[in-house]
Amino acid sequence: MPIVIAIDGPSASGKSTNARLIAKTLGYTYVDTGAMFRAFAWSCLKRGVDVHSPAAVVAALRDWNATLECVDGQVRLLVDGYFPEKEIRTAETSAAASSIAAVTEVRAWMKEAQRSCVKFGDLVMEGRDIGTHIFPETPIKFYLDASAEERSQRREAEGVNDDLAARDKRDSTRAVAPLTVAVGAIVINNAGETPQQTSERMLVEIRRLLAERK
Ligand code: C5P
Repeated sequence: MPIVIAIDGPSASGKSTNARLIAKTLGYTYVDTGAMFRAFAWSCLKRGVDVHSPAAVVAALRDWNATLECVDGQVRLLVDGYFPEKEIRTAETSAAASSIAAVTEVRAWMKEAQRSCVKFGDLVMEGRDIGTHIFPETPIKFYLDASAEERSQRREAEGVNDDLAARDKRDSTRAVAPLTVAVGAIVINNAGETPQQTSERMLVEIRRLLAERK
């Protein structure tokens, strides 16, 4: 069974940067599950689907043409054979992603797709519910965090307009698979640290847990 490193945490807590660094160091495949939710939200917006109507979202989910592929150690979700990359990072898509992510059927679809990623080998998977719902059985789980103020500053520094507080509130209070610290997760507050420092701390824990597994 492939190894899965689960990384969860709120927006701008450093999940993507650290997950990428760790995947590269270990030679594992990187999976950005937020990008999968974003791709579906983007496809809904493009098709004029009302992302606030669960019924409309479920109908759209039934007939979207999505496929997964792995390129350069990273999983991509293609919509009608197209890989949406930059266009899923807009403020509009961020807000829509957090709306469609509250729909039970969407989460069930994502769970199946995300679990199927083990076909690409050992994984570093980041999101909001990886350690709690997608791979609860993995012994290697992290929860990254930093203060709301520091996380907002990170987004501003990236020049990204994103209503983090609203998204975090929706993500943490929804009925299905809300953002929460998984049982057994190592909590890392990375305020004031560089990604190199944080990923090094995480790699120390990962190597220890991998050694225990043997
Ligand atoms: O991580 P990112 O900010 O790209 O995720 C976009 C949105 O997708 C989140 O605000 C959240 O609503 C949703 N999401 C989720 N579960 C995941 C990953 C993302 O609900 N595992």
